[in-house]
Amino acid sequence: MSTKLLFEDIDEPGLHTLDVYKRRGGYLMAEQALAMAPDSLVTSLKDSGLRGRGGAGFPTGLKASFIPQGKMDKYLVCNADESEPGTFKDRELMQKNPHSLIEGMIIAAYAVGANKSFIFIRGEYAQQATILEDAIAEAKAAGYLGPDVLGKGVELDMWVHRGAGAYICGEETGLLDALEGRRGNPRLKPPFPANQGLYQGPTLLNNVETLTAIPYILRVGAEAYAAMGVEKSSGTKLISVSGNVKRPGNYEIEMGMTGRDIIYGLAGGIEDDREVLLWFPGGSSSPVLTKDDLDVPYDYEALAGAGSMLGSGAIIVADDSNSVVDIAVKTASFYKHESCGKCTPCREGTNWTTKMLLRIRSGEATPMDLDVIESVCDQIMGNCLCVLGDAMAMPVSSMVKKFRPAFEAHIERARRDAEQRLLASLESDHGPESILEGIGAGAPQH
Ligand code: SF4
Repeated sequence: MSTKLLFEDIDEPGLHTLDVYKRRGGYLMAEQALAMAPDSLVTSLKDSGLRGRGGAGFPTGLKASFIPQGKMDKYLVCNADESEPGTFKDRELMQKNPHSLIEGMIIAAYAVGANKSFIFIRGEYAQQATILEDAIAEAKAAGYLGPDVLGKGVELDMWVHRGAGAYICGEETGLLDALEGRRGNPRLKPPFPANQGLYQGPTLLNNVETLTAIPYILRVGAEAYAAMGVEKSSGTKLISVSGNVKRPGNYEIEMGMTGRDIIYGLAGGIEDDREVLLWFPGGSSSPVLTKDDLDVPYDYEALAGAGSMLGSGAIIVADDSNSVVDIAVKTASFYKHESCGKCTPCREGTNWTTKMLLRIRSGEATPMDLDVIESVCDQIMGNCLCVLGDAMAMPVSSMVKKFRPAFEAHIERARRDAEQRLLASLESDHGPESILEGIGAGAPQH
C-alpha cells in the first residue's frame, strides 16, 4: 500500500497556487521554523534520519551541519536537474506543489544561514520552471521571501536557473560550475561544496525531494518520520516506475516495501503478464536485479546488500521480450554521450564499452569480448573524477555478469546471421564472377 506524505495533496486542484497551498496548511512550518534556533532545525533533520533523495543517500542533517557557522555569504542550491533516465518524480512535485519546495528551501536556508538560493532546473523542464517562477513571485509578494522574511529579520532571495540539457549538471560540482556560467564540468573534491561551493562560498546542495520533505518532517515530527520505513532508511520515498509495467507512474512508499509489492502491487504487474527479465532499482546507473531479487526490500541497505542501490528511486522494468544486449547498448551509449570527457577512464571507457557492445550486437564479436567489457568496467569503477563513469560501468557489468549465457547466445546467433547475410550478398550482387569482373574493370590498363 502506498503511504502519502509528500504526495498527500498532490492531486488537489490548484495546489500550485499560494491560496490553495496555504489552505492546506502551507507555510505554517516555515513560520514555526523561523521562530526556532537554526541549530535545533539541523538537529531535527538529523533525528528524522532523512537521507538525500537525489541518489547518494547522504544524511541530510549531517550535511547541513557541515556548513560553517557565522556571518558570511552562504548559498542554498536545489538540484532540480533530474536527468537520470527513468526518474520523473521531482517533475511532478515541482509542477503540482512548487510551494512545498519553496517552503522547504526557506527552512533549510534559515537552518544554515544562507541568504541566497537557487533552483537549478533541467532545461527540458520549461513548464515546471515557469510554474516555479510564478510560485516564487507569489511567495515574495506574500513576504515569505525577500529582505525581511515574515518580519523576522531574515533575508532570503530565490532564483530559478535553467540548465542547458547536460546529464553531468546533475552532479553537484558540475551543477555549480554551470550555475556560475561555465561549462558544467565536475570539480575535484575536496574542497566539498559545504566549504567551497558556489562562488567559493559555503553551499548547501540538496535535491528537490529532500528539500520538499522538510516541511512535512516538521509537521509530523522528526521522531514520527524516523519511525516510518526501516532503521537506517527512514521515512517515505517517491519512486518513479516505468518500463513494461501495467501502471507506470510516480508512487510514494514507506521505505522497506518489497520490489514485488511495488512492481506487481502498485504498478499492476507486467504487461501481457510476461516475466520480469531485469529491473533497475535506482535509475539506469544502478546495477540491475533479476526476478530472483523481487523480494528485496526497497531501502538503502537492503538494495546495497543485493548488489545494487536505491539511487534516484527510479525503477525501470524490462520484461522477457527484451534483449539484454539491446538494453546494455542503450545504457552504455547514453553515458558515453553524456561523459564530459574530463577524465580518461570515463571518456575512453564509456566509448570502448559502447563500441564493443555494438560489435556484439552486430555479430562481429567473440565471447572473449565479454571478458574485455568486464575488465574495462572494472578499471572505470572507482577511478573517475565523478560518478558518471561508474554510472555506466555498474549496470553494464552487472548485465554481463548476470546474463552471460544470453550474451554468448546472442554473439553466436548474430555471428551466424552476419555470415549468412554476407554469403547471400556475395551470391546475389557480387558473386565470384562479378567480383573478378569488377577487379578486372578496375585494373590498370597496360
Ligand atoms: Fe567527466 Fe566522466 Fe570524468 Fe565525470 S567521470 S568528470 S563525466 S569524464
